[in-house]
Amino acid sequence: MKEINPRDQEHKEIRMAVRDLCASFQSAYWHKVEKDSGYPDEFVQALSKAGWLSALIPEEYGGGGASLTEASVILEEINRSGANSGACHAQMYIMGALLRHGSKEQKNKYLPEIAAGRLSLQSFAVTEPNTGTDTTKTKTFAEKKGDRYVVNGQKVFISRVPHSDLMLLLARTTPLADVKKKTDGLSIFLVELKDHAKRGLTERPIRNMVNHETSELFFDDFEVPAENLIGEEGRGFHYILDGMNAERILIGAECIGDGYWFIEKARNYANERIVFDRPIGQNQGIQFPIAQAYAHVRAADLMRYEAARLFDEGKACGAEANMAKLLAADASWEAANVCMQTHGGYGFAVEYDIERKFRETKLYQVAPISTNLILSFLGEHVLGMPRSF
Ligand SMILES: Cc1cc2nc3c(=O)[nH]c(=O)nc-3n(C[C@H](O)[C@H](O)[C@H](O)COP(=O)(O)OP(=O)(O)OC[C@H]3O[C@@H](n4cnc5c(N)ncnc54)[C@H](O)[C@@H]3O)c2cc1C
Repeated sequence: MKEINPRDQEHKEIRMAVRDLCASFQSAYWHKVEKDSGYPDEFVQALSKAGWLSALIPEEYGGGGASLTEASVILEEINRSGANSGACHAQMYIMGALLRHGSKEQKNKYLPEIAAGRLSLQSFAVTEPNTGTDTTKTKTFAEKKGDRYVVNGQKVFISRVPHSDLMLLLARTTPLADVKKKTDGLSIFLVELKDHAKRGLTERPIRNMVNHETSELFFDDFEVPAENLIGEEGRGFHYILDGMNAERILIGAECIGDGYWFIEKARNYANERIVFDRPIGQNQGIQFPIAQAYAHVRAADLMRYEAARLFDEGKACGAEANMAKLLAADASWEAANVCMQTHGGYGFAVEYDIERKFRETKLYQVAPISTNLILSFLGEHVLGMPRSF
C-alpha cells in the first residue's frame, strides 16, 4: 500500500530501528498493559537499552548526541507504530534543564547513569491542584536549611513517579509576595526518589483515561540536598520556559506519529470494508474527512520540521514550536475522530486499538500545555495583542 508520509525516507536508519523495536510490542502487549492498568516496563526498558531514551544526552556522557529533529523522529515512530511514547517521553524533554543549567558535578553524577539506563529521569512535577496553569502561583515551598532544602506542598497529575529514579521538581524558594517579578523566586531540583515514602513524599495514584500512571504527591518536610538545586536559586521558572520549545516540538512529533497511524488505519479500512456492495471509502462522506485530516497532519508536520530545524540551528523558535504543538495536536485529534467514525462500531472494539489511541492523543489538547494557553502565547507574544491574564 502507498506510504502516506513523504518523509519516510529521511532519517531512515532511526525510523527502521525504532520500528523494529516497536514491532516486538504488538497490540496484545498494549492490551495487557491497559487491562492491568499497568506500566509498559518491558517496552520502556527495551527503548532505554537501545539508547533511544538517552538520544539527547551528549556523547561525552555516553548518550546518543542526537539533534532535536532526530529525537523527534524517534518519538514520532514510536507513536506511528501504535505504541505510546507518553510512557517515557519525559526523559527526553526534561533532560534539557539538566543539560543546560546543571552543574558539572550534577552532569557527571547523573548523565552517564541515565545514558547507561541505570537511572531513569521520567518525572517532572509542576502542576498543583490549586494553581493549575497559573504556574507562578506555585505553592509548594522549598526552604533552605543549611545544606538542605525542606519541601512542603502538593502536586497533582505527576506522571510515572513509581517508574522513575529521578524527578525534576518546581517549587517556590522565595514567597510570591517578596519577589519583584512573579516569575522569579521559583527553583528546580533534581530529586532522588528512592525510598521517598519514608522520607516524607507520599504518592497517591489517580486513575485516569489514558493509563498514564499519574499521581498526587504530598511533600511533608521532604529533604533535598542543596547540591541538587539546578542552576541558580530563584531562576527555575526561566529554566523551565527555556526547555519548553523542545518539549512542544517533541510532543508535536508524537502527535504527527499518531496522526499518520490514524490516517493509515482509516484509509485501509475505508478501502476494505464493503457496505452496500462497495468499499465505504468510495463514498465521499467517508473519503473526504480522511483526506482533509491527512492534509492537516501533513501541514502540521511541516511546522514541526521547521521548528525543529530552527531549534537545532540555535535560532529563536518559540512561535514555531508552539504552533507545531498546536497544529499537530489538533491534526492528530481530527485524525483520531475520523478514524473512529470510519470504523463505525469496530472503532469502539478494544482489539482495533483505535479507542486506546483516541484516548491517548486527546491528552495533547490539555497536557503538557493546553491549546488555549498556546493560543494566548501566539496572540500576545507573536501577534502583539493585549495580555489577557
Ligand atoms: C494524564 C495526565 C498526565 C499529566 N502529567 C503531568 C506531569 O507529569 N507533570 C505535571 O506537572 N503535570 C502533568 N499533568 C497536568 C497537566 O499539565 C495539566 O492538567 C495542564 O497543564 C492543565 O492544568 P489544569 O488541569 O490545572 O487546568 P486548568 O489550569 O485548571 O485549566 C482548565 C481549562 O481552562 C483553560 N484555561 C485556564 N486558564 C485560561 C485562560 N486564562 N484563558 C483561556 N483558557 C484558560 C485551560 O486551557 C484548560 O482547558 C498531566 C495531566 C494529565 C491529564
